[in-house]
Amino acid sequence: MQIHEIHGLLLLDPAKRPEPGFIRVEDGRIVEIQPGERRRSEDAGVLHTGASSIICPAFIDAHLHLPQIGSIGADGLELLDWLQRVIYPAEAWWGNGGASHLLELAVGNMVDQGTLGFAGYLTSHGEVNAAAVRRLENGAGLPGRLRWIAGRVAMDREAPEPLVREDLARAECRPPVPISLPDPPAETGRRRGSVSVNPRFAISCTDELLAEAGWFVRDRVESGSPIHVQTHLAESLAELARVRELFPDDPNYTSVYDRHGLLTDQTLLGHCNHLTAEEWGLIAERRSVTVHCPTANVFLVAGLFDLDAARDHGVRVGLGSDVAAGADVAMPRVARAMIETAKLRKMTIAPNAWVPTPADAWAQMTKGNADALGWNDAGRLEIGGAADLLALTPPASWLDEHLIGRLLYNWSAELISARIVDGELMDEPARQC
Ligand SMILES: [Zn+2]
Repeated sequence: MQIHEIHGLLLLDPAKRPEPGFIRVEDGRIVEIQPGERRRSEDAGVLHTGASSIICPAFIDAHLHLPQIGSIGADGLELLDWLQRVIYPAEAWWGNGGASHLLELAVGNMVDQGTLGFAGYLTSHGEVNAAAVRRLENGAGLPGRLRWIAGRVAMDREAPEPLVREDLARAECRPPVPISLPDPPAETGRRRGSVSVNPRFAISCTDELLAEAGWFVRDRVESGSPIHVQTHLAESLAELARVRELFPDDPNYTSVYDRHGLLTDQTLLGHCNHLTAEEWGLIAERRSVTVHCPTANVFLVAGLFDLDAARDHGVRVGLGSDVAAGADVAMPRVARAMIETAKLRKMTIAPNAWVPTPADAWAQMTKGNADALGWNDAGRLEIGGAADLLALTPPASWLDEHLIGRLLYNWSAELISARIVDGELMDEPARQC
């Protein structure tokens, strides 16, 4: 059902208390925001969320792997072993009959937890993932038409044959790196997604494959239709050591991507836990985005992202669940882990570390992530903004100066009383596990 008006407590700024008001929506966009109470309307398109319900932008996840949604919780392995023993078999299954079910599960779990936009990875299968992005774009059989950036993973070594097969055969089927973007649904004419180029990480990509990805990205920039790049950088120390063996002539890990033109202002670099000052400087110069994945970093004992280094170098930061290394698709729990990582650093290695407030963390998973993904009309309650919204109904006793902290630290999907995606009120999604 299309929503025309939503009444409730408007969370215009997470650092301030929400105020009563209403939002008017047309064609999936916010066209008016007004403070104050209004007379109750019985119009079916007017949503009254209740006196203590908070209207806020839906959450955005800046890094996750949809095919890994069923692989959460395989603990005790280092990144590279975990990939070989847990993740690559799961990704092979995605390409061998599992994609449809796993896609529904991933989108369903995101919607359940209030995530209505994401940047993510698929697998290295071309046809299967072309079908997956068509489903993402038209919402067929999925619980919602999320906003998305997603790409086929490029990889041509150090993984099982079914996952490297297509890129090894690339000479016969250029260009293999991206998949084409489907048409928007006829009903709205609005696109919700874009495809990205996702070289998995330097270990699983030869120089030839990285070069091919870089050429494709450069062509897109030069033709005026730039494309996002998603990859992983400096997640664990064992990964760093292997990259040094594979690319002995590069001064550092970041330079491997830069040498191939893969650091642009639309590049999302997952993790970035172990960077030198020189690498931070290079990322700043290229205006690329680092994506902090705090739950995943702890799960794989990979490292602690240095928010201070990012701030000191003026590098943009996104926040991602990185499912399945991250054990939780719920962005409020990832935002909480962002605070906890900063506190851990402050207690141990960096006494002067900046610790985000709950309001900072909340802003990061909404407006901050929208900005990181280049969605300047998302993650905020502003006129012209996208009507991807949540109504949250916490206990009335939470409505004090600690509201945002209470929401983050007591997070449950039960707090969500309504989800509005592209101006449409969604049915309560079925819980899946
Ligand atoms: Zn990842």
